[in-house]
Amino acid sequence: MSTVTFHSGERIPLEMHKVRIVQKLNLVPIERRLEAIRAAGNNTFLLRNRDIYLDMLTDSGVNAMSDRQLAAMMESDDSYAGSETYAKLEEKIREIFGTEYFLPVHQGRAAENIISRVFVKPGTIVPMNYHFTTSKAHVVLNGGTVEELLIDEGLAVTSTHPFKGNLDVGKLEALIKTHGAERIAFVRVETGTNLIGGQPHSLANLREVRAVCDRHGVMLVFDASLLADNLYFIKTREPEAANLSLREITRIIADMADVLYFSARKLGCARGGGICTRNQDHYMKMRELVTLYEGFLTYGGMSIREIEALTVGLDETMDEDMVSQGPQFIEYMVNDLDRQGVPVITPPGGLGCHLDAMRFLDHVPQTQYPAGALASALFLVSGVRGMERGSVSEQRDAEGNETYSNMELLRLAMPRRVFTLSQVKYAVDRIVWLYENRALVGGLRFVEEPKLLRFFFGKLETTTDWHAALIAKFRADFGDSL
Ligand SMILES: *Cc1c(COP(=O)(O)O)cnc(C)c1O
Repeated sequence: MSTVTFHSGERIPLEMHKVRIVQKLNLVPIERRLEAIRAAGNNTFLLRNRDIYLDMLTDSGVNAMSDRQLAAMMESDDSYAGSETYAKLEEKIREIFGTEYFLPVHQGRAAENIISRVFVKPGTIVPMNYHFTTSKAHVVLNGGTVEELLIDEGLAVTSTHPFKGNLDVGKLEALIKTHGAERIAFVRVETGTNLIGGQPHSLANLREVRAVCDRHGVMLVFDASLLADNLYFIKTREPEAANLSLREITRIIADMADVLYFSARKLGCARGGGICTRNQDHYMKMRELVTLYEGFLTYGGMSIREIEALTVGLDETMDEDMVSQGPQFIEYMVNDLDRQGVPVITPPGGLGCHLDAMRFLDHVPQTQYPAGALASALFLVSGVRGMERGSVSEQRDAEGNETYSNMELLRLAMPRRVFTLSQVKYAVDRIVWLYENRALVGGLRFVEEPKLLRFFFGKLETTTDWHAALIAKFRADFGDSL
């Protein structure tokens, strides 16, 4: 962590890396961006990269890799079975998590498929701090139901609570009392809770959850996909961890889990995933399915080069300079927007900066998808691509009625070590301008609405021609600037 004080008194997050490979970006004129967002049906998933300036859609599989990772990829040992590359990963997993058994998978949701197939039986319940889209889908697919037991503060948009991702252990006790421990497939804790804005849980909370699980003989499954950010928050926000190393914190966490899994598209800055456990019985049950769905046990659907990169990436995740970069850039962006009056989720979390579209566009009713409209408007005025995390991302109920989400968010993900501070400043500038001109932005309505996963493929149109009004004001204020 870089705690450098500037002579000017200004505090900015200082990069503890230098850039040695670059990719050219395009910033196309606003008129071209209009054509692009119209062709994409106002759905940022359907944009082409060549029209995008800053891609803040996701942190999945797009984090920058290090020189050490790239070098390791060159010396990978490719063989179907018994590869040395795999042995290195297995050893690194043991070293970091202290778990005896490891199963490689091709990405995070593949781990969820295997865990749910083995442990979720029809009629069982999976209590969790909060769901992630794929984790919930796999529980439901296997006949289980998800119970969200996030602390109440977790859904407060603006807050000073340092650990909004904590699981409410009182609610967990009550749930187990009502349904009986036999009905609980497992308790799932998601670190760096994705869908509520990358918000962390504390060590103390995890310890309390573990104690409840022990009392009732219930299994604890830990989704460690966003562990890197959560480690940073535990280290900086939880007094008991201030003097612990990231390795020590990781071991305390891993020692509490019966099963720990992760998406290596996030954790370890590579592409792949894994399941770790110290329980031989659990391991044997899951192992069969890995060979069935993923591949042989020494690659699990991952490319051998990615396994090398992951081994090094996991090691580098134990470095405070590496882990702090994302959260510190996000903190800079959130605080700067907050200071200028733009509604954002507070306190700053991991993963990215989240704009609160419900307040940003408080004149756009939820029936007209304010978060979707904000995603379209921001791309138009800046070339910054975010991800709608609101009602467009929900799906209709069995009767075909809309189910509106609790929050209408525009997520601006901050892939690790990818953007510079001047790019973040550019995004902030255009967001502030858009906020000042928010009255010009209107709503959206579906023109093509798939039944399943409509947020990936659905197309929408503007309710009025508010794009034209935004462009006119943009040209009046910025002249012929891009
Ligand atoms: C991304 C993610 C997953 C799924 O991982 P994929 O590699 O995208 O399949 C699961 N849980 C959390 C918390 C995630 O952020």
